[in-house]
Amino acid sequence: MIPPRQSRTIHIRDLAVGGDAPIAVQSMAATRTQDIEATLRQVRILEAAGADLVRIAVDSAADVEALAVIRAQTKALLSVDLQENYRLAEKVAPHVDKLRYNPGHLHHHEKSKSIADKVAYLVGVAKEHGLAMRIGVNAGSVAPDVRARFEGNAEGEGLAIVQSALEHCELVDRLGFADYVVSIKDSDPRVVIDANVRFAEARPDVPLHLGVTEAGLPPDGIVKTRIAFEQLLSRGIGDTLRVSLTLPFDDKGEEIVVGRQIIADVEAGRFRSVPPNFFDGLNIIACPSCSRVENERFIDLAQDVKKLTQYAQEHDVTIAVMGCRVNGPGETDDADLGLWCGPNFVNLKKGPEELGAFTYDEILGRLKAELDALIG
Ligand code: SF4
Repeated sequence: MIPPRQSRTIHIRDLAVGGDAPIAVQSMAATRTQDIEATLRQVRILEAAGADLVRIAVDSAADVEALAVIRAQTKALLSVDLQENYRLAEKVAPHVDKLRYNPGHLHHHEKSKSIADKVAYLVGVAKEHGLAMRIGVNAGSVAPDVRARFEGNAEGEGLAIVQSALEHCELVDRLGFADYVVSIKDSDPRVVIDANVRFAEARPDVPLHLGVTEAGLPPDGIVKTRIAFEQLLSRGIGDTLRVSLTLPFDDKGEEIVVGRQIIADVEAGRFRSVPPNFFDGLNIIACPSCSRVENERFIDLAQDVKKLTQYAQEHDVTIAVMGCRVNGPGETDDADLGLWCGPNFVNLKKGPEELGAFTYDEILGRLKAELDALIG
């Protein structure tokens, strides 16, 4: 049931992705990169579950040092997430097999330098070290200039993420670099389907990395992911994928198991349809955690939010729970109630209005009061 894919084949060292290569399944370490023991343990858990590639986030020179130690102790293929700090690329390159940059994060540093020059720098590093690359567009962090062009358009968000990906493909193509994949992610599987179909129509040659970002806790997070992957894989779209679930660190291998199961089900024609009202009612979005997570109580918090809010299942309310202060404020923008973790406090937002920071013991009570008020 998976038709031949039209994408070209690229290589991440000896792993072929795209074309007629098997669909690669990958995941990301949810631990702080500088906690070398915990991160290595994550890498091994993911490898044991059958991950083809493991991503690690790097934010600082200290993270790069930790990455070098991790690299020396594992043969797993490693991808690095450059977050906002794209200038670390040349330092991380000797230790990894693939670089991921987010077009929406390139404007943060060296504001006087053009985006094209920053992309040229990244491609130069990738070429020098023989690395593959991912252009990873995320709806929660679209570049401000691209977002502005689509403001006021009902489909603006979906169009902006596709446009951002297309423009960055052009920049990279002009530099004569072909070893790249693209991802276009959103927390709503319907947006993921639409955006990836549009992109694949425009650039069928570019391998696609599929993902529903912040899908949240199982089982709902698995259902949201399955909705998108079934629709895309069965159209021959998708060359590698990541299932993003909010799970305790030791259970992260489940992301790989679920990814492989979805591929096997689509290959065998086993589709799980959902009723038309699946998207009605309470929607909880939660990030999968990464090296930026500010307090390990985040996973428990996400699980507690889910339990606490069960009584509101019938209400069309979106609650977003994020692990850090860097991406938390932006990624909660579209939610009715947004929470993001700091080391000792959890920040709470109602729509665009910030309500303050509460201790991990206070936050659930305050969240319930706000949810009750919204329902009322
Ligand atoms: S919200 Fe923060 S902690 Fe969660 S995955 Fe994104 S960057 Fe990592």
